[in-house]
Amino acid sequence: MSSKTKNSFFKTLTSRLTLWYAGLFGVLGLAVFLVVYFSLSANLKERSDAQLLHLATAVESLYNAHGTRAVLAEFQREAHSRGIGRVFFRLLTPRGTTLGTSDMSPWGGLKAGDLQTSKFTEGGIVFRTISIPGHRNKIRVIFKKAADGNVIQVGTTLRDNNLLLEKYRETFGTALSILLICGGFVGWLMARRAMSGVQRVSRAAARIDKNDLDLRVAVGNEGQEIDDLARAFNEMLERIEMLVRELKDVSDNIAHDLRSPITRIRGIAETTLTGKQGMKEYREMAAAVVGESDRLVEMINTMLEIAQTDSGVTELSMQPVDMRQIIDDAADLFLPLAEDKDIDLKTSITSAPLIVLGDRAKIQRVIANLLDNAIKFTSPAGQVMVAAGADAAKVIITIEDTGAGISAHDLPHIFERFYRCDKSRSTPGNGLGLSLAQALVHAHGGEITVTSLPGRGSTFTVSLPLDTSPS
Ligand code: ADP
Repeated sequence: MSSKTKNSFFKTLTSRLTLWYAGLFGVLGLAVFLVVYFSLSANLKERSDAQLLHLATAVESLYNAHGTRAVLAEFQREAHSRGIGRVFFRLLTPRGTTLGTSDMSPWGGLKAGDLQTSKFTEGGIVFRTISIPGHRNKIRVIFKKAADGNVIQVGTTLRDNNLLLEKYRETFGTALSILLICGGFVGWLMARRAMSGVQRVSRAAARIDKNDLDLRVAVGNEGQEIDDLARAFNEMLERIEMLVRELKDVSDNIAHDLRSPITRIRGIAETTLTGKQGMKEYREMAAAVVGESDRLVEMINTMLEIAQTDSGVTELSMQPVDMRQIIDDAADLFLPLAEDKDIDLKTSITSAPLIVLGDRAKIQRVIANLLDNAIKFTSPAGQVMVAAGADAAKVIITIEDTGAGISAHDLPHIFERFYRCDKSRSTPGNGLGLSLAQALVHAHGGEITVTSLPGRGSTFTVSLPLDTSPS
């Protein structure tokens, strides 16, 4: 494995989890081993001490009752029956001089021990663990004071205990290695299973490019978190797809709607340059260029206003606004236009105040756009009715006309930027008025809806939250 692949291997979550699992199993195993090991060795020591005490007490009673000769004979008998390499007995003076022993040939090098400094317990006992030079295993000894002050020493090798502990270490070492391997393997399996969903999502993400935005990640059954990830990923894709589609539509529309006035301006300029016109024609052409340029600037400004309102950048100067006043003013403003087209413009407004908290100029803009459309798309001798009322929570304004109406096909799209119904292409407009109205109404926390019957007319309804704050 090259160092680069090795590095990237250790960077994967699967490998890290595998190592974590193996490490965890290892540490837990080691902890269990240590606990068992120390309690086993303490147990073995206790058992040896109990045996030594038992032997020393028996020998001491014999010594107290029958004296030196009897006890020395017992030393030999007992040592031979238990094995002279396993246990030994000695009778010592209080200063440590040996008075008699069992067969000590296997215990070469063992000193009597400094009995002067030994701290005997109340029962006259001392335990010690001693190493004999040249011997692998240590020995455990007990010193027990007899009634006459002499000391009985019984010793035993710790070889059996050591062998047992060694066996235990070997067995546990093997078990620990197996545990580590199993831990690593189990960790690897679990990590792979947990990561398979994530890998599936990232593989799907890698496959997606700008032409495949409709691709989705299947929601499997790898667990709640992975399902949530797949779902969140799909929702994000949906939003991106929508944004890309909107961006494409808007850029298509901008290209289309900006091109026409610019082409017209260019046409006028070309005619001016090539033809031989009089001053009057030149003036007319210049006026036409100014008019087209104004239209362009207005369109660009409206587009900016919609974008800023939609994104919340626009600052609204909020104040209590009486909608009755706004509607009255708008009706006054549009009356001459309506009369010119022989349209009957009427208002029906409740007498109670209709106060909303909003930006007066922006709300005026909404009502003006809707009224302008109503008059624009209504034929002479038609009617436009503006009504305003309120329920418990909101002010409701309806602008109803008896005009051309909107087909069911166009109706869902009329609030989209640059959308104009086909038959409106001959009427002036840029398809931004309703988008702006909708953005402004939403910015005020309101709603705008439309119902329409082709050939019979349309009704636009704007609802804005009532201002309930105490005046
Ligand atoms: P514009 O009026 O500049 O074309 P709008 O965004 O205000 O743009 O309106 C979008 C389209 O919705 C209009 O082109 C028209 O086709 C349709 N529309 C809007 N209001 C009415 C109405 N009152 N009656 C019939 N059609 C309407």
